[in-house]
Amino acid sequence: MTAVLPPPVAPGGGFLLTPAARSGVFSREQTSEDQLEMADAARAFLEGEILPHMEALEAWAKNEAGDSLLMIEKLREACDLGLGSIELPEEYDGLGLSLTTSLLCSEALCACASFAATLGAHAGIGTLPIAYFGNDEQKARYLPKLASAEIISCYALTEPGNGSDALHGKTNAVLSDDGSHYVLNGQKQFITNGSWADISVVFTNIEGKYSALIVDLHTDGVTRGAEEKKMGIRGSSTCGLIFQDVKVPAEDLLGQLGDAAKIALNILYVGRLKLGFATMGTAKYAITKTLDFCTSRKQFGRPVIEFDAQQGKLAEMAAWTYACDSACYRAIGDIDAQIALLPEGHTTLDEIAILRQFGLECAIVKICGSETLSRVLYHALRMHGGYGFCEEYQIERLARDNVVDTIYEGTNDINRIVLSGALVESAYMGTIPFRETLESIHSDLRDGEDTLAATGDYLAAEEIRVLHLKRALTYLTERILIGIGKDVRTEQQVLFMLSDAIMALYLAEAAFARTVQLGADHDQAGVRADLVRLALHDAEAQARSSSRDALAHVETSGLAEHLTNIDRLFGDPTMPVVAIKRRVAEHFIAAGRYDI
Ligand SMILES: Cc1cc2nc3c(=O)[nH]c(=O)nc-3n(C[C@H](O)[C@H](O)[C@H](O)COP(=O)(O)OP(=O)(O)OC[C@H]3O[C@@H](n4cnc5c(N)ncnc54)[C@H](O)[C@@H]3O)c2cc1C
Repeated sequence: MTAVLPPPVAPGGGFLLTPAARSGVFSREQTSEDQLEMADAARAFLEGEILPHMEALEAWAKNEAGDSLLMIEKLREACDLGLGSIELPEEYDGLGLSLTTSLLCSEALCACASFAATLGAHAGIGTLPIAYFGNDEQKARYLPKLASAEIISCYALTEPGNGSDALHGKTNAVLSDDGSHYVLNGQKQFITNGSWADISVVFTNIEGKYSALIVDLHTDGVTRGAEEKKMGIRGSSTCGLIFQDVKVPAEDLLGQLGDAAKIALNILYVGRLKLGFATMGTAKYAITKTLDFCTSRKQFGRPVIEFDAQQGKLAEMAAWTYACDSACYRAIGDIDAQIALLPEGHTTLDEIAILRQFGLECAIVKICGSETLSRVLYHALRMHGGYGFCEEYQIERLARDNVVDTIYEGTNDINRIVLSGALVESAYMGTIPFRETLESIHSDLRDGEDTLAATGDYLAAEEIRVLHLKRALTYLTERILIGIGKDVRTEQQVLFMLSDAIMALYLAEAAFARTVQLGADHDQAGVRADLVRLALHDAEAQARSSSRDALAHVETSGLAEHLTNIDRLFGDPTMPVVAIKRRVAEHFIAAGRYDI
């Protein structure tokens, strides 16, 4: 069975201006049997080979002897199963499967972020630059050995003085007089797999152009820094790399001189998707763990989960996760649909170019995955009481591990800047039908009319709420563009409000569309409809508060009128959330796990 692709939606925020999606949105329910089989293999590996060894995997960083063999052993076992080469071409010993399959596996390999970071640094950011931008000789030389983890890779972009501003690093390489090699000097910081990697993709200036080299880390002049003593992902290796007059063969230039931005940013888009899927998977795991605990833990003679307050939290965790899951699959579906339109014989680079167009959606997946997990773990830890604070229960580790999710693959701040920046660009450039939609909104506001109508019976009231959100946020985007005009880059606080509101809409609409598509006859239709309602309630609260704060800043006159307009556009916020949360909690308590 092959996956059913949705019709294309304009990248860069096109979803804001389309009617509420009742069909054509990809969701996990549309994944193929082959994809699910691969994800099941990944999950079985996690449960059989990783989670039982968590303590030993985490202990190595504390171990004076620096005994890291177990993590490397596990990395190689995963690669033997093909988990390190899912999207590599078969001619280089990869599985030649889709990015979607790889993302399903990222989701399945959740709950051990140390292992996920190690595998991701090797098979993702450490290998994909060679797969995407390497020449035939480089691919033949490196990819089969990377696929099996015979050699281990890492990705060295960050420097002590350049983190978010990653493309202005100081590392420098000079071509030797005979043109046979580069002489590399500089320092990289926070490199995952730094202690045990054999090769690294290293970003460096060459002749004043920021470029990338494939560097053999066993070459003279390479020094590995001390392991960082980290708050989380303690089983992974993070250290600096120092290059002192390191000779790198000229044939190990990756791509062309000046290709650093192209390589680094494109790899980041893939990294953001993978991180989003992995954190979303971990959120489900945390819900199941919390249900387990709160069902057996008794206070005042009753299981803790029977208390109304805890049920409210359980319902919130489930609703955030359902929306996040729906958004992750929606994004990759839209990306795949655009890729499907490429002409026959297209290259991997053509596919990567599509990812870049979906930079906004990739940023949403990264932010929503990492922050949904943070919110879920906030509740989960406290629902465990004192036990949540103790190492014996896994929630403590998950909470520590989650912090870095908001920092790497571009901090969530940088991703919010990417998100709002992409939307502003799409609106200015007219790549999404922004002006046309605004005209109809203004005309309705002028005439005092509300022309919103549902296009189907099932979840009709929820469809109207999605439409209200879209129109209010289109209006808000216009007011922000007018209000901050040429200061669009410096008005970051307002842009963050826009990002948060747009992201909230994306998630709620994804949950709505997924649920409508499954239909009223689906055996989980009731709880799914309630999860949509909670996601909408959350999105409305977020979007309303962001909108009012943003308007209060950008409107120098006529604020009252704009607040009235936006309140009208948002519609009636009333919703019986307490009753809805009780129904949702009842479902998950009966299921005993996150079963959606
Ligand atoms: C455990 C771990 C593993 C890592 N693995 C790797 C790896 O394998 N390879 C690699 O190359 N890097 C890696 N990194 C580095 C990571 O990508 C960077 O830490 C991250 O990009 C942030 O850079 P920084 O730490 O220098 O923070 P800074 O960039 O100094 O940021 C400090 C604060 O300022 C904010 N800020 C920065 N610029 C702006 C701006 N323009 N507008 C608004 N706010 C801004 C940030 O959001 C942040 O809150 C890793 C980091 C960690 C902690």
